[in-house]
Amino acid sequence: MPEQVIVLGGGIIGLSCAFEAAQRGAHVTVVEPHEFGGQASGAAAGMLAPYTENPEQPDPFFHLCAASLRLYPEWLRHIESISGLNAELMNTGSLTVAMHESDLLPLQTRLAWQQAYGLRAELVEGSSLRLLEPSLSPAVTAALFCPDESHVYAPHLVQALEAACRRMGVKLISHAGAITLPGLNGQYGVQVKTAEAGTFTGDRLVVCAGAWACKYAEAFGFPIPIHPIRGQICAFDVPVRDVRHMVFSSQAYWVGKNNGTLVCGASEDVAGYDTSVTERGIERLVRFGPRLLPLLEGLRPIHSWAGLRPATRDGWPLIGPLPGRPDIILAAGHYRNGILLSPVTAAIVADLLTGRKPDGPIAAFAPDRFAGTAARRGVS
Ligand SMILES: Cc1cc2nc3c(=O)[nH]c(=O)nc-3n(C[C@H](O)[C@H](O)[C@H](O)COP(=O)(O)OP(=O)(O)OC[C@H]3O[C@@H](n4cnc5c(N)ncnc54)[C@H](O)[C@@H]3O)c2cc1C
Repeated sequence: MPEQVIVLGGGIIGLSCAFEAAQRGAHVTVVEPHEFGGQASGAAAGMLAPYTENPEQPDPFFHLCAASLRLYPEWLRHIESISGLNAELMNTGSLTVAMHESDLLPLQTRLAWQQAYGLRAELVEGSSLRLLEPSLSPAVTAALFCPDESHVYAPHLVQALEAACRRMGVKLISHAGAITLPGLNGQYGVQVKTAEAGTFTGDRLVVCAGAWACKYAEAFGFPIPIHPIRGQICAFDVPVRDVRHMVFSSQAYWVGKNNGTLVCGASEDVAGYDTSVTERGIERLVRFGPRLLPLLEGLRPIHSWAGLRPATRDGWPLIGPLPGRPDIILAAGHYRNGILLSPVTAAIVADLLTGRKPDGPIAAFAPDRFAGTAARRGVS
């Protein structure tokens, strides 16, 4: 393990990588321009839903997501015991609902391959469905039940990770302001200059800047095809016992939290780096809710917010060293699944830092997988 690791970005990915690297003996500094967890990670619904998020086939992304879900319970126990904070893991299971005949075929297709793969999943209909989730409208004719999907309270997980990192001796630098990388010209070793918090030098750099990772393309002379996709999301005042499962539909999802809110998300819109909430974005969610969950009739959200998902062209993250620079590792572009993917990303990054071969194949997530086409299209 190299002596000094500098992590750029203090969202869930940066803090997770810092925590795991510190566990393995590195001296780690996390440099965050603003607040820890102040962007996508603090805005997320916290769902750990690899089976719902991968309806098509068991591809490398599905395997990455499934591996991360397997790591979660132990990873969380460890963070919670070191930090003394609770990230509120709730093993509720999920229901993906069908309201029309045409909704059923994709669910049956998904059920077939996921069962063949050995996952616990079943199609529930009629009175069995009402018994399982009484809050659903009679308009819901069937649902795919995945008992092994769960969720955390993302803002609390970020706080727990931050506290655990601090306990592990990680230096946490927030409100560092603008960051530049003047010392990249030497063969190895990095220098990170900040507007507000001074300069840091290290042996290795891990770039976890979420939707802002693309801003380093020029410094690295390497395209980083990540762009922000805004997610608008809201919460209703609904006791957790009233909606027992995570509910997914083609239009929205609903997740009941321990604090008595039912979180409903989320829009996917292109708005650059604008994190404001629009009436249109939230009204669509509000209007659709009662069709599935009659208890939402007449309710207004008590809170609405937005975050920027770091999206890539294929929806898969970029995890790995930059070509020709093994001292610079990219871990960004986790799009809709960064909360789910935090433990597996941290494990891969820590393996790369220690020269250990990561457990699963990671070539599918190589940062240079778009390099040819990106250069042709001028993407940076
Ligand atoms: C509404 C919504 C709901 C979501 N729900 C879920 C969910 O249920 N489950 C799930 O798994 N995922 C979910 N996601 C996705 C998840 O939130 C993201 O994939 C994840 O938070 C990405 O983490 P990150 O640390 O890479 O990015 P971020 O949390 O955005 O962190 C990046 C950090 O980099 C900092 N930064 C900015 N500029 C620079 C710079 N130049 N240098 C260094 N750092 C910089 C930022 O200030 C920020 O703190 C959701 C996202 C949204 C928006």
